[in-house]
Amino acid sequence: MSRSDHASEAPRGSESAKPQPPPQRRRPRPGITHDTAFFWDGVARQKLLIQRCAACQELRHPPSPMCRRCRSLDWDTLEACGRGTIYSFVLHYHPSIPPFPPGHPVAVIELEEGTRLITDLVGIEPEDVEIGLPVEVEFNRVDDELVLPQFRPQLPARKSAPRRHDAQPAKDRL
Ligand code: ZN
Repeated sequence: MSRSDHASEAPRGSESAKPQPPPQRRRPRPGITHDTAFFWDGVARQKLLIQRCAACQELRHPPSPMCRRCRSLDWDTLEACGRGTIYSFVLHYHPSIPPFPPGHPVAVIELEEGTRLITDLVGIEPEDVEIGLPVEVEFNRVDDELVLPQFRPQLPARKSAPRRHDAQPAKDRL
């Protein structure tokens, strides 16, 4: 072992000279209030709960104490099916906000139930994001204490068995 090798390992006394990865920046925590607690309780149970006015049935998100349509303070929740389409989106580049990578897609999702929510997208390259794309929710553990509802492109529906081009000669189908 050369003198320089020894010198590089000596100061910290660690078991190896592997460079330590930079400290990982955690995602920002959601602001959970009295009004939004039900939503995060639902996420913990892998349910996407949307606030619904008990008087006029208007859905609203983000949650708020009063119905904007009829001003009722009474509400319950609807469990959304988790499917929707991209209503709008941005690819976030600047300013850099670790741990989000450059070009991180942030989208407004229009749920099948008719209300919208803002979320981030997973399972898609930024250049492939487009308005109208069908997406569905999944509940992802992003660190040891945070689970988030995130959306990814819906898998194509399987209508029937895939058709094989070589199943029979083309002339038989004419
Ligand atoms: Zn209402």
